[in-house]
Amino acid sequence: MIFMQPNINSNSLKEVYKSLFDFNHDACYALDMDGNFTLFNEEAVKITGYSAEESLKMNFVSLLHEDYFEDTIQHFKRVTQGHRERFETTILKKDSGEQVHLLLTAVPIMVGRKVLGVVGCAQDITKKKELEALLNGQNLILKMIAKGTPFSEVLDRIVLFIERFTHGALCSIMIADKEGKRLLHGSSPSLPAAYNEAVDGVPIGPSAGSCGTAAYLRRSVTVTDIGTDPLWKEYRDLALSYGLQACWSSPVFDDDQRVVGTFGMYYSGTTSPREKDMKIIQKATDLTSLVIQHYQAKEKIDFMAYHDALTGLPNRRLFDKRVEAAIDGTNVNEGEKLCLMFLDLDRFKNVNDSLGHSIGDKLLMYVSAKLVNCLGDGATFSRQGGDEFTILLEHTTKEEARAVAQKILDTLAEPFVIEGTDIFITTSVGMSLYPDDGEDVGVLLSKADVAMYQAKKQGRNNFQTYDVLLDKKAFEKLQIENELRKALERNEFELNYQPIINLCTNNLTGAEALIRWNNEKCGNVSPQQFIPIAEETGMIVEIGEWVLKTALLQLKNWHLDGMAGLTMSVNLSIRQFYQPNLIKMISDTLVETGVEPRFLTIEITESMTMDVETASVILHELKKLGVNISIDDFGTGYSSLSYLKRFPIDHLKIDRCFIRDITDNKSDENIATTIILMAHNLGLSVIAEGVETEGQLQLLKQHRCNAAQGYLFSKPVPAEEFITFKVPS
Ligand code: C2E
Ligand code: MG
Ligand code: MG
Repeated sequence: MIFMQPNINSNSLKEVYKSLFDFNHDACYALDMDGNFTLFNEEAVKITGYSAEESLKMNFVSLLHEDYFEDTIQHFKRVTQGHRERFETTILKKDSGEQVHLLLTAVPIMVGRKVLGVVGCAQDITKKKELEALLNGQNLILKMIAKGTPFSEVLDRIVLFIERFTHGALCSIMIADKEGKRLLHGSSPSLPAAYNEAVDGVPIGPSAGSCGTAAYLRRSVTVTDIGTDPLWKEYRDLALSYGLQACWSSPVFDDDQRVVGTFGMYYSGTTSPREKDMKIIQKATDLTSLVIQHYQAKEKIDFMAYHDALTGLPNRRLFDKRVEAAIDGTNVNEGEKLCLMFLDLDRFKNVNDSLGHSIGDKLLMYVSAKLVNCLGDGATFSRQGGDEFTILLEHTTKEEARAVAQKILDTLAEPFVIEGTDIFITTSVGMSLYPDDGEDVGVLLSKADVAMYQAKKQGRNNFQTYDVLLDKKAFEKLQIENELRKALERNEFELNYQPIINLCTNNLTGAEALIRWNNEKCGNVSPQQFIPIAEETGMIVEIGEWVLKTALLQLKNWHLDGMAGLTMSVNLSIRQFYQPNLIKMISDTLVETGVEPRFLTIEITESMTMDVETASVILHELKKLGVNISIDDFGTGYSSLSYLKRFPIDHLKIDRCFIRDITDNKSDENIATTIILMAHNLGLSVIAEGVETEGQLQLLKQHRCNAAQGYLFSKPVPAEEFITFKVPS
């Protein structure tokens, strides 16, 4: 339906239509019922490249890109049946064959109820389509990269994409390794076979010029460089002889950020004018450099995920992967072995503490570099964290592995000079073997770790191979250590008390508090087993405070219950002894529990008094508090009574081992009696430990030993039982 002003007559209406047709921004056309052009405006001439005269001899189908034949003809048919259509199609421009994307409107030419032809407009949407394709292509490729699609697949897609994007222009993508060997070559199916063959034969490397050369040499290459770099000339000539007008390439990096090859693209200009071609190339270059950038970023992220930031060495994750791969590649049936080493720098903490963390970090870097050099390419060397490193040796034997470990120790024997300071560092190395010591990385590493601890125990600066027996002990120790940490809060400790009997009066004079630990996982653990661990970890300080307080509270109760005069002996460990707040802690506990100091006896061992000066100061301060001091396990340490003169000591406890055989062994008897005599001369009272028989007791009494404790009287027992104790008459 047409609406008109009444003053426009039918002639002027024709003019309106004609003007609309001729001067339209879009291409306008009319077709007869067979699809032959009957009208063709100026814009249509521009878009198609055909003149008006030429077009009037043409059918619209001859303009179409073959991919759009069917669809476009369907739309045409519908219009001839009286419908209006709006659709997209692609035509080929005259001569250049360049593709032009069009948005078409087509309506029937109606006379009465009869359709006589088709009239319509066409808008050139090529630019919009190209942009869309570029964005889609980028998105597609970026998505693939983000998903971690293998490089080769991404390349395949780029080939397809570029091919479409450049409207059928030839395209090839190639990756070559350092030696110029072609690793991957994706190329458009429309590329002449001769081209591929020729490229195959072109060496890529610094001596022979090729497209990859510049990238290989890490020169920055832009499209305009082509032809100016002599190294490119040879290849360019070849490319030109196959109708290729431009090429582009970029380096490809491996995990270690080294150039391992090149990634290149070659375009043909045969189907488009040079100017347009260069634009496409520019876009394609932008796109592919984006791809490369993303690859590099991804590689960097991958690198960081698998390498240690400080030393650049493989990290634990990569190491584990390599070990897994190595295990798979080891032919156990042929007797092949793998060796895993665990390496821990000795006293590295001292370096950090005394020289600072920045020197510590430098030392770690220097040590890594030196070891990388020493180990060569045959080994995987990784940093686990801190000053711990691991090494994987493949296809090796126990002997070879030992030789490598020795070489590591020798290598580190030379001092490092860091910021003018000579730093000497040694290392302890533990090793485990596959398949002998375990089947997987976790087990092998933990066993190498156990062996490393053994090396530390052996005095450091040495290596040890894994040994099952050591492992069992180490495991138990670890378990005890873990459980011990929670024992206090879980209330797992208890004190037992062993009576101490005055041998002159035959009276109970005191009790020795002895700790007991019952743990769900470890069972009853003897103090001989867990006290050294508590010492090592420092937990003894807290445990010791608990023991003192518990024992004194108990003593206070006994005093109140009528056992006045009873003393309490409490064992002190060396770590506690040297705690700066020891004196305060003891005096506070005495005050808190309301026990007079004279009823407390502190038991220390000879080994604690090695530092005679300090020990003497501490002991004098203790004495000032008013407590008694006892030397426990006497005879097992220095056995020198002379230095005891310097200490304010009250009692000597003769170790059980001297008491055990005193009735059968004359020399043991002599030792015991000599100790008693000398102690008496020094004004000390003597307590015999571990008295089990009447014979031992009689002999001790004979030699005027002052007191005794042992199974003969009672084992250490819980408090409830202790109060029922009666000295046998
Ligand atoms: P110790 O202080 O020399 O304690 C004497 C040890 O000899 C106790 O072993 C006791 O049960 C045992 N004993 C006593 N009479 C006899 C006997 O007639 N025959 C035999 N065969 N053994 C006897 P226990 O309780 O296993 O303690 C071992 C060591 O653990 C103690 O030796 C002491 O050094 C340490 N210890 C125990 N409790 C504590 C504590 O609370 N703190 C600290 N720091 N060390 C403790
Ligand atoms: Mg003791
Ligand atoms: Mg003892």
